Amino acid sequence: MRILITGGAGFIGSHLAERLLGDGHEIVALDDLSTGRLSNIEHLLDHPGFEFRQGSIFDGSLLAGAVAEADLIFHLAAAVGVQLIVDNPVHTIETNVRGTEVVLEHALARKVRLLIASTSEVYGKSQEATFREESDLVLGPSTKSRWAYAASKLLDEFLGLGYHRQYGLDVVVLRLFNTVGPRQTGQYGMVVPRFVRQALNDEPITVYGDGQQTRTFTHVTDAVGAMVDLAFHDEAAGEVFNIGGKEEISISELARRVKSALRSRSEIRLVPYDQVFGSGFEDMMRRVPDIEKVKSWTGYEPLRTVEDVIRDVAEHERGRSGP
Ligand code: UDP
Repeated sequence: MRILITGGAGFIGSHLAERLLGDGHEIVALDDLSTGRLSNIEHLLDHPGFEFRQGSIFDGSLLAGAVAEADLIFHLAAAVGVQLIVDNPVHTIETNVRGTEVVLEHALARKVRLLIASTSEVYGKSQEATFREESDLVLGPSTKSRWAYAASKLLDEFLGLGYHRQYGLDVVVLRLFNTVGPRQTGQYGMVVPRFVRQALNDEPITVYGDGQQTRTFTHVTDAVGAMVDLAFHDEAAGEVFNIGGKEEISISELARRVKSALRSRSEIRLVPYDQVFGSGFEDMMRRVPDIEKVKSWTGYEPLRTVEDVIRDVAEHERGRSGP
């Protein structure tokens, strides 16, 4: 099959491309290299089944050409990372909402199945113990720019599901929970590459707030496995799936495990949120997925642990330089 990945030079996109090439598919990776990097896909460039096209999803003819050749599309191109979103809310909203809209329009014109990458951020500050796909979504006020990301992705979901219901387009929504692994950059705030970098350099590991907030990290290899299974599932159109890991861990505990796994001399330092994000920043205190749906549909089982993540990210970080 010929598969288009928008955001194909990004962290998740590059792993997805690698997996799909391994399965014998042909890949076109479209990326404007705004947050994606050529270094993420350098090792794929010589592969006969892989083609990289540098450009934006807002370049109509580029997108139309790529969609026309595709049998399946993964739409991963988006503005990502809390830091980027807080710094640049207009860009986030425009990229995420208009970007998905144009990809949907082109997919519909060619009737190509589309998987949309959404995010666990859409659950917002819901207090539920685990988040199910049918759970209520609880977002904060529009005066707090962090929620722009969740709101923009939520609109993507509504649009995608709307295209399915109204026009019969095959659309599947994937809600990814804190996907982590090699090639993720810490530049836009993501915690695992930042902690690993800090620990490797024996610099202070910066835990924001009191560190009691929890996350459930998903190794990118596990996440990509679920994404691929759902892409080829005949009944998945019009459905939303959580894709997440199993182990809930506090950010303080993550810092301790990174420090100990890497035998680092780093101090673990608590940093108030307002020093990083300005005043009034709201963080999510817990975020745990219910993954029963994806398990029962695909047999998905996240196999990789937080220790696996730390080891793989550290191995990658040791082998590169720059931010
Ligand atoms: N975080 C932290 N130190 C950092 C970067 C992030 O303590 O240097 C915290 C952040 O406040 C959040 C958690 O780690 O509570 C996960 O952050 P990330 O940006 O990776 O993902 P999020 O869950 O916020 O989308």
